[in-house]
Amino acid sequence: MPERTESESRKLLRRLRDTLATTGGGQDRLDRITHLIADSMGTEVCSIYLFRDPETLELCATEGLKPEAVHQTRMKLGEGLVGRVARTNSAVNTANAPAEKGFRYMPETGEEIYSSFLGVPIQRVGEKLGVLVVQSKTDRSYSDDEVYALEVVAMVLAEMTELGAFTSDDEGMRALHRQPVMFRGSTGQEGAAEGHVWLHEPRVVVTNPVADDPLTEIDRIREAVGQLRVSIEDLLAAQSLDKDQVQVLEAYRMFANSRGWLRRMEEDIMRGLSAEAAVEKEQSAARARMEQVEDGYLRERLSDLDDLSNRLLRQLTGQGADTGAEMPSDPVLVARNIGPAELLDYGRKLKGVVLEEGSVGSHAAVVARALAIPLIINAGRITSEALNGDHILVDGDQGIAHLRPEETVARAFRDKIAMQAEAQQRYASLRELPAQTACGQVIGLHMNAGLMADLPSLEGSGAEGVGLFRTELQFLVRNKMPRRAELAQLYARVMDAAQGRRVAFRTLDIGSDKVLPYMKPQDEPNPAMGWRAIRVGLDKPGVLRMQVQALIRAANGRPLTVMFPFITEFSEFQQARSHVLRELHREKSLGHITPETIEIGAMLETPSLAFAPRAFFDLVDFVSIGGNDLKQFFFAADRENERVRRRYDMLNFTFLSFIEQIVQRCAETGTPLSYCGEDAGRPIEALALAAMGLRSLSMRPASIGPVKALLRRVDLTQAREVMMTAQERGEDSARDALMGWLAELPV
Ligand code: PEP
Ligand code: MG
Repeated sequence: MPERTESESRKLLRRLRDTLATTGGGQDRLDRITHLIADSMGTEVCSIYLFRDPETLELCATEGLKPEAVHQTRMKLGEGLVGRVARTNSAVNTANAPAEKGFRYMPETGEEIYSSFLGVPIQRVGEKLGVLVVQSKTDRSYSDDEVYALEVVAMVLAEMTELGAFTSDDEGMRALHRQPVMFRGSTGQEGAAEGHVWLHEPRVVVTNPVADDPLTEIDRIREAVGQLRVSIEDLLAAQSLDKDQVQVLEAYRMFANSRGWLRRMEEDIMRGLSAEAAVEKEQSAARARMEQVEDGYLRERLSDLDDLSNRLLRQLTGQGADTGAEMPSDPVLVARNIGPAELLDYGRKLKGVVLEEGSVGSHAAVVARALAIPLIINAGRITSEALNGDHILVDGDQGIAHLRPEETVARAFRDKIAMQAEAQQRYASLRELPAQTACGQVIGLHMNAGLMADLPSLEGSGAEGVGLFRTELQFLVRNKMPRRAELAQLYARVMDAAQGRRVAFRTLDIGSDKVLPYMKPQDEPNPAMGWRAIRVGLDKPGVLRMQVQALIRAANGRPLTVMFPFITEFSEFQQARSHVLRELHREKSLGHITPETIEIGAMLETPSLAFAPRAFFDLVDFVSIGGNDLKQFFFAADRENERVRRRYDMLNFTFLSFIEQIVQRCAETGTPLSYCGEDAGRPIEALALAAMGLRSLSMRPASIGPVKALLRRVDLTQAREVMMTAQERGEDSARDALMGWLAELPV
């Protein structure tokens, strides 16, 4: 790095900082900056273009072009050379601009044809803010050092833009993060909410992009990187890391030890940036690259680098997640991702949750469902755009978040919320009524639960009981294995809250997507079909027994219902059942009161159990169809994979015929049967299940009202005929036929 340029850029940055420190409006500052850059770099033109909206750039200040063009000249992303810089997020440097592909002459700027053009993006950790351009009449070619210096200046401009340095009251300079932006993700949990943003991990704010003493800054960054390396080694030395975690940490280690990374940051510091700004510059470059690479593996590694930069920034600035900001009264949590325990800590005070990552089956999604909070996952780059306190609308049904919405959008949205509230009121009026169909069949509607937070819904929803209590959630939200006494206390509270209503406790269903943080993870090629649920319980029965003991003690003489997840063959059920009988015997011999009655059931989640010998159906006290898993194995479509999980309709006649076979097998032996997968909570699916002969459904509490409302309107015999006719016509799914029939039905 030549000494001349080094000191030039430092000098330029210092002048820039002084300019920024002076009083004056945003426009005034921008004007002075363009003047200063043109002067320092010896160019005729220097212009700053900023984004008006995500697609449009606007000339906001210029030295050299016509002043009247300021705030008038606009261009689309990708249009002309300026648009190209913005679209590609990389510099364009040419001595002969008119010969460049995409060059656009803009007469309104009074542009003479400037031959040379150097444009660099103004971006802040991947967020595109604008473009900084210098132009000259001579066919001058800008050196690498000049490009670099302009990039460093752009970086500082980005920081200052973010800090609102160019915001003023006049129409010309609207602040960033003020415009409405819509994020389209996927539904994690339905529902609509209006509130204000609460960032789970607020962005690090860099207030000192320019530094005077590079050597001090270099010491700071070396020390921070050193600490970072140690912390990564500590994490790697920890027990119980799975393959993915090790892979991520090893990538961290690789970057943290990469000499190129540190060297580039040190070079930026030598050019006048502070340590923090140098980290951000590298981070921005990584994000820009991330947008361009297609390869999934590379993208993941770049995202690791991004995480690592965040850690380094937090280390340098000492800014943790707690910025002292006050949580709004109607918070909508916005985060890249969040763990179940953290989400549970926020609890019901959240109005909604919007995540950049996540999946429908993630633990966070499970908790959001338990808390009945609308959740959107895969919501693009919302954490870069949202600020604490921003107004936000969460449309969980569509998977859309409206950030800083226009008033018209907000009004329409409020109408939607009001309509939903009205519907809820209608459902509430049905609460005490049975789910009795027009043909006189009564369908038992129960709720799924897993957390204490679920229990208040028992009253509100009108559920007859808890058809599925997912006990693993209590294990998942802790960081160590709960003890028997703790579990017994918790289960007793659940039974107390149920006030005599039946609660079907499902024993621990771990493995697959449910990995306990404190258990050694298994490295399995296909965990959904791996060592999970009852397979773990039978091979390592310690936890299963402890759980059964806790349940017996919690019941303290009350009736108890236990069911086992993922039973695949008769002998598995026999073994699991014998564990319960043995524990009953043992508890009795220890002088504990045993339950008045005990029901031991099995979840039917693999097709094979439907073909189990009759002796299974004779022995089992009840069967509950775990439709989420059963469907994934029936259609060979991973329930966690966004690409395929909605590909096959549960109302496909192949699946419905299979359900009917299960109904018949249970009917032959008088075995009670219920369905507790998510589909039971969708009105049309619930109707189809009832038409196939199911008389008990278990679902999330919010679904009980809509399902009951529909069931009370229909005649199951007619529904069945409609379905059969469609099947005879050769249709794959019963959906269209049922929808058509329902549309004609009197309300
Ligand atoms: C199911 O598989 O349908 C079920 C209810 O269990 P889980 O969703 O917890 O796997
Ligand atoms: Mg299951």
